[in-house]
Amino acid sequence: MPFAEVAVNSTAPHRQTFTYSLPNGLDVAVGQAVYVPFGSRTLQGVVLEVTAEPRFAETRDIIAAIDGQPLLSPERAALARWISDHYLAPLFDCVALMLPPGFRRKPLTLLRPLVSADDLGALALTPRQRQVLEALAGRGEVEAEELRSELRLRSMGAVVDQLAGRGLLQRTYELGPPKVRAKVVPHVRLLVARESARADATRDLLDGPGADGRRGRARREPMVAVLNALGEEGPLLPLAKLRAQTGIGQAGLRELVERGLVAVEDVEVERDPLADLQVSPRRPPELTAAQEGAYREIASALERRNGGPAPVFLLHGVTGSGKTEVYLQALERTVAVGRRAIVLVPEISLTPQTVRRFAERFPGQVAVAHSGLSLGQQFDQWRRIRDGHYAVVIGARSAVFAPQPDLGLIVMDEEHEWTYKQQEPAPRYHTRAVAEKLAELTGAVLVLGSATPDLESYHRARAGRYRLLTLAERVQPPPEADQPPGGVREGASAPCIVRPLPEVEVVDLRRELREGNRGIFSRSLGRAVAEALAAGEQVILFLNRRGSASFVQCRDCGHVPSCSACAVSLTYHATEERLICHHCRRSRRLPETCPQCQSPRIRFLGIGTEKVEEEAGWAFPGARLLRWDRDVTRQRGAHERILARFLAHEADILIGTQMIAKGLDIPAVTLVGVISADVGLNLPDFRSGERTFQLLEQVAGRAGRGPRGGRVIIQTYTPNHYAVEAAASHDYAAFYEHEASLRQRLGYPPFGRLARLVYGHTNAGNAQKQALRMAAVLRRERDVRGIPNLDVLGPAPALVPRVRGRYRWQITLRGGDPAELLGALSFPQGWTVDIDPVSLL
Ligand code: ADP
Ligand code: ZN
Ligand code: ZN
Repeated sequence: MPFAEVAVNSTAPHRQTFTYSLPNGLDVAVGQAVYVPFGSRTLQGVVLEVTAEPRFAETRDIIAAIDGQPLLSPERAALARWISDHYLAPLFDCVALMLPPGFRRKPLTLLRPLVSADDLGALALTPRQRQVLEALAGRGEVEAEELRSELRLRSMGAVVDQLAGRGLLQRTYELGPPKVRAKVVPHVRLLVARESARADATRDLLDGPGADGRRGRARREPMVAVLNALGEEGPLLPLAKLRAQTGIGQAGLRELVERGLVAVEDVEVERDPLADLQVSPRRPPELTAAQEGAYREIASALERRNGGPAPVFLLHGVTGSGKTEVYLQALERTVAVGRRAIVLVPEISLTPQTVRRFAERFPGQVAVAHSGLSLGQQFDQWRRIRDGHYAVVIGARSAVFAPQPDLGLIVMDEEHEWTYKQQEPAPRYHTRAVAEKLAELTGAVLVLGSATPDLESYHRARAGRYRLLTLAERVQPPPEADQPPGGVREGASAPCIVRPLPEVEVVDLRRELREGNRGIFSRSLGRAVAEALAAGEQVILFLNRRGSASFVQCRDCGHVPSCSACAVSLTYHATEERLICHHCRRSRRLPETCPQCQSPRIRFLGIGTEKVEEEAGWAFPGARLLRWDRDVTRQRGAHERILARFLAHEADILIGTQMIAKGLDIPAVTLVGVISADVGLNLPDFRSGERTFQLLEQVAGRAGRGPRGGRVIIQTYTPNHYAVEAAASHDYAAFYEHEASLRQRLGYPPFGRLARLVYGHTNAGNAQKQALRMAAVLRRERDVRGIPNLDVLGPAPALVPRVRGRYRWQITLRGGDPAELLGALSFPQGWTVDIDPVSLL
């Protein structure tokens, strides 16, 4: 007799499956959704494994299957397990990533009083018991959670237990209603197919009994109109459309049905998010030699016949080198061999141009997944994807979980982007790791693309785990091709021209200050902006700002105090007037003068986009300014509107934060100015150097995409920082060498692994106490188990020490395999565990 291992949708965060037996006659497959008994409840579950032997002697029967066909393929069932094990996340949360949107139903507890209000007075009750019964009295069934929030009663569970035990109330369990289902719309179907039959019916309606007099005719005419409409456009039309067109009413419709002329039926309709995307199909251009070389390798992996594991490619191509074109042709190959693809982008709302290019090349075969879709749209799309309607699904990180069948290719564009890491809630997965696992399970080819690969990815390519493909030069479509702003026109026969990357100038702000310039624009940047504006060109001013970290920097020598143990900058805490390390909590007093050059001009930095906008208004009167940051793009569609305005040259200067670094292709931009590279460099995080290099390189990639070329000016107090120097010379290899040796020395990834534990509590003292206790437990367990090479750092206050009223402390594990230690422990409420965090901020 077979048994099923089931992931159960309970409220407790289990990481294991539960074993169930199958009742006679029930047959289930891996990936199938089922109802299972769980304690006294009936809950949803998903079968992850069917086995011959139970793991436990005592098993209960599965109640029933929820759906006829499996919701998860066996590979995805395995993927869910892997995510749960690797990230120490509740198993069902991992399964749910791949289920149809809205599938999960909340387990509800319903309470019904068994005594009437009049009897309450005579009963011996505690005040709390009385409070609960009084609230229930006279009501039918009340949902427990609803009652709890009504009464603000913390220990209500215990009170309800007591009352149920005494037979004073009844408890029943149910699942909440499904949040979404297929949308059905009533349609009318014509039942008389032949035209002559319809003519007879029409004559009958107009001349037969009941048609006499003005009122009779007025009633019959819409009925005839319905028959005509169905005959001409039908045979099946939405009822709403017929109503609007003919004015048919309930009675008229009923009569048509009674006469056997039409039938009303529910038709499932798709809520299609791309319904109004207008694209014109396009032919692919001829690839350049470099593109062709990369494409050949991917194509031969797609066509491989030996059935061995598929390789993972790292496509390292400078900005504008034609990576997207390689993806497009790889997708074409994928479709040609009868398979499908998933294309991942960092943030879908920032990549409308990429989506458009895919839609143009594969009209009608592209599904776009993004959070702006309604639940109904997501639900419909999930089912259509599962049924194999699309050649490709494009979306941000969660699209990696799309139920795309026959997966042959996974593309992850801008693979270094941090948005690929899920932060909240659990599972805190990294899309790259998940994609790699999925590719391994399905045999799909994975292509990671970036101009500035993640250091870890590049390290793997060096070590031979990924196959490195390089596009070293920019391409420019032939000039005679008609090129709309920001768009692409292909199919021209002339060969591509190779363009140089933009020239980068680094301006030393210490010198500006020494020479008396206290403004935020250096003389060089000021001049360059004025020149570009005079020539009618466009400018981007970029501000590297993330979070509200405040660090201290000497304005004369650029020195920033940092922690000797963690190699991150110290953060200034105004309340204590101290500099604190956010990893290990070492701290020191704020120095009066610079420890390096004794200058008294050691101060706090921090400047916002509004400030830049204001100063630009003064410095460049007459220039039309446009600001793009989180504050102005909170509304829906704001990105697209701002981009469209800038593309249409309705503004001369675009001012923004890291968002503008992503994927924009604006040919009229000839100058990019980086107001200050320092904020990013001095975040107290071991990845701040990498992050800054990537941002500078990406933002430089926005300049000079048009025929007029372009230049980049980076302002900084630390012009000799390796990340700034490498970005200025577009030298990824130099950056890699420097950064890798730093990481190796300190045991940071990829030379060691990390885990970050954060505890939050409303009481400052409790937060600290709990964090200290946990750190002690971790150290002891590490030693007891004899796990070598694992540092337990902290606890230290988190960089943002208080979030939504909770004081936050963090512990960092660094070394071999932190999950080995953490997997064996359980964490009280209030802790979050992040395995392989992308940042320690
Ligand atoms: P990336 O993705 O590396 O930034 P893109 O694929 O967007 O680069 O290419 C940059 C520009 O060059 C785009 O406008 C694209 O249409 C064009 N392009 C790329 N490859 C070719 C080619 N082989 N022939 C003509 N134009 C090309
Ligand atoms: Zn100094
Ligand atoms: Zn430290």
